[in-house]
Amino acid sequence: MEDYLERLKRGSLKLYALEEELPADEAARVRRAYIERETGIALSAVGAYTIPVDRVAKKNCENLIGAIQIPVGIAGPIAIHGEYAEGSFFLPLATTEGALVASVNRGCSAITQAGGAEVRIFRDGMTRAPLFAATGVVHARAVVDYVHSHQDEIAAAAESTTSHGKLTGITCSVAGTSVFVRLEFDTKDAMGMNMVTIASEKAAQLIASETGAHLIALSSNVCTDKKPAAINMVMGRGRTAAAGVLLTDELIRHVLKTDAATLAEVNLRKNLVGSARAGSLGYNAHAANIIAALFIACGQDPAHVVEGSLAVTTVDPAPGGVYVSVTLPSLPAGTVGGGTGIATQQECLRLLGVAGGGDPPGSHARKFAEIIASAVLAGELSLLGALSAQHLARAHKALGR
Ligand code: NAP
Repeated sequence: MEDYLERLKRGSLKLYALEEELPADEAARVRRAYIERETGIALSAVGAYTIPVDRVAKKNCENLIGAIQIPVGIAGPIAIHGEYAEGSFFLPLATTEGALVASVNRGCSAITQAGGAEVRIFRDGMTRAPLFAATGVVHARAVVDYVHSHQDEIAAAAESTTSHGKLTGITCSVAGTSVFVRLEFDTKDAMGMNMVTIASEKAAQLIASETGAHLIALSSNVCTDKKPAAINMVMGRGRTAAAGVLLTDELIRHVLKTDAATLAEVNLRKNLVGSARAGSLGYNAHAANIIAALFIACGQDPAHVVEGSLAVTTVDPAPGGVYVSVTLPSLPAGTVGGGTGIATQQECLRLLGVAGGGDPPGSHARKFAEIIASAVLAGELSLLGALSAQHLARAHKALGR
């Protein structure tokens, strides 16, 4: 240990190079000790972890020193009737926000008592949008024309990099001499950002060489990755899923402690009018809360909560009650790749019956997306109920502090 610490101090060994000489666990221990010595801050809690870090240090996190532990609570069971998710599920929610798990749990109970959430996937397509510079608008139009008339060649180039990804659509947009080519892929069980980035590079090289346009950046902001953007709301990105449930007047009274008219008015004035007045891109109560907690528990990229937050919640009058729905236009989610292979996250995916690749490929990620949409519905129902019954502050006082 001392020898390594001295070499690190002298600069003859770089912090990032420890894994070249030591197994990942040992490298993390030495790196941690070095940081502790340099800063005088003890990192014993960060250093106490159970996940095997060999793969993590290679694939998920450079300069590893340990792991942060985030509490995981269980909500459910929730009854779900999807095309892929059918049955009763316990939801693992990783959060430090007191009252969140209890709130989702109440929503699960309402949904299950109502007979379950119905849920469907409407679209499936992860996007990457390379950016090209044309010499003028006539050249820009020629680039767009080339892309539209050579989709098969572009697909062949892109798909040469992957055995799972399939190019499913191309949309071009132009701003003067900037040409954005938004490529959309079916990524099967992968969330797909790495997959489509690698595939898009091949497609972009072909477009550049055939049109003479200069490839400025493989990723423009038209993708749009990890930024709130109307294009994701309108066109979808990742999985597009919607879940709904019919609630009777009696159930609304009994479980949510309110009534149908109040629930509908709160949704209209808060989620729709309020979001419009605020210029929000999300028309929901707290979809991001549930998506973040499930994403962290299940090894998703938490930055994609930005896309996930673009959800629309509706409460429609129905005979004897209301029909409540959530629509998630942009839900990047996967069951292979990224953080899904880490031991604790794998357990949570296993709990939902979606760990690893599905048979057929894509079925696990779609099942997972259906479960997430249903969980968001549970969260929306519970918070709308609490607001309608004027119980929000009371619940947070009791559970959150
Ligand atoms: P990945 O870790 O690159 O793994 C996905 C690969 O798994 C696929 O390319 C595929 O290989 C293989 N695979 C095996 N079984 C599969 C199945 N049943 N369905 C689909 N693929 C299967 O994962 P990713 O989802 O593409 O990327 C996730 C990572 O991207 C996250 O860590 C995220 O943080 C990161 N990320 C990257 C960018 C970026 O710009 N690169 C941006 C945002 C996030 P084949 O392709 O060979 O078939």
